[in-house]
Amino acid sequence: MVIPFNKPYESNKWIDQIHKKWHQSENANNESLRFTFERAGYSSEKNPMLFVNSATSALEVMALVIGIKPGDEVIMPSFTYAATANAFAKFGAKIVFVDIESDTLNIDVKAVKNAISERTKAIIPIHYGGVSADLGALLSIARESDILLLEDGAHTIGAKYKDRLLGTIGDMGCLSFHQTKNITSFGSGGSLIINDSKYLDAAEETIHQGTDQMAFKKGRVDAYTWQRLGGEYEMHPFSRAYLTEAMVDLNMVTEKRKLLWSRYYETLKPLEDQGIISLAKIPDYALPNGHIFYMLTNSSNERDALSGYLQMKNISAYTHYEPLHMTGIGRRVGVHSGNLSITNSVSERILRLPIYYDLTEKQQLTVVKNIYDFYMTL
Ligand SMILES: *Cc1c(COP(=O)(O)O)cnc(C)c1O
Repeated sequence: MVIPFNKPYESNKWIDQIHKKWHQSENANNESLRFTFERAGYSSEKNPMLFVNSATSALEVMALVIGIKPGDEVIMPSFTYAATANAFAKFGAKIVFVDIESDTLNIDVKAVKNAISERTKAIIPIHYGGVSADLGALLSIARESDILLLEDGAHTIGAKYKDRLLGTIGDMGCLSFHQTKNITSFGSGGSLIINDSKYLDAAEETIHQGTDQMAFKKGRVDAYTWQRLGGEYEMHPFSRAYLTEAMVDLNMVTEKRKLLWSRYYETLKPLEDQGIISLAKIPDYALPNGHIFYMLTNSSNERDALSGYLQMKNISAYTHYEPLHMTGIGRRVGVHSGNLSITNSVSERILRLPIYYDLTEKQQLTVVKNIYDFYMTL
């Protein structure tokens, strides 16, 4: 039997509910979605959440709202998905790629400090695998230099920095509900979290084609008109209804993923102790959500051989991001600051193991056994 890399969490039981919600009024539909997020600890008062059709859209809206223009610089890790860079580069920002820390694969705080210039508009950390970047340090750098902190929280549903949910700490943040993430809104979806109220009206206009449609719906204006650049960014009503059902199970899904994460960690630790592989170190401030489990092999060849071996045993294990600063487009829209040796090395040695709600203990132990078998045959 094949062990896939990922299986979206979903339940047939939801279908009737989803149909019902989809046909309810827009207001009722929005209220129940908001409620499931509040139950999960997201405060719609302190950190209003706008539901959009992807995290990529949320990042684009951030770029539009803060008025990114040619000549502006934004600092982000090179070890991220193209979406993080696209959202800002397409409005003319120069992307300043920096290195990551070897323990967490999150943006390196010292590298960020060195990359700041007069033109820096924002620092954009991702929280790799749902493990918080060092937000305390990043916030103080941002505040000191009068720069914005925008969190790419695509991996972070339910994960925290100390007692605060990720995505709610920077000036703005986002979540992704793409089918590859812990909770999906059926295919793709995302949310934009506004943590500084001065951006709220502009963000609402931006996702509604740059019009003041929301002010109109709330009865604040008599007719709505075009106010600013925007786009069709709103989450589809079907996705809202689907996400409402999926979010009810957030705790259950997160606890299961954390259990799977810990079991991989404990069973593979002896290989790390022997210097054969390396595993993540979770900092004290991070409360992760088990989004990704990865191991680092000692060389690129060994990683490829192991992934080929697992494939042969019907187990899907995946590599991850190519360093964005090394790509042709990355060189055109960006520069790198400092030495990105950890990024380059990690990208060649990382292997992500299957982790999803339906993965059984037996399947998981099969994955682990095959990793041990591979190293025995070396
Ligand atoms: C998945 C992902 C995105 C994009 O999310 P979508 O909802 O698919 O647009 C952005 N950044 C990171 C780090 C991601 O992993």
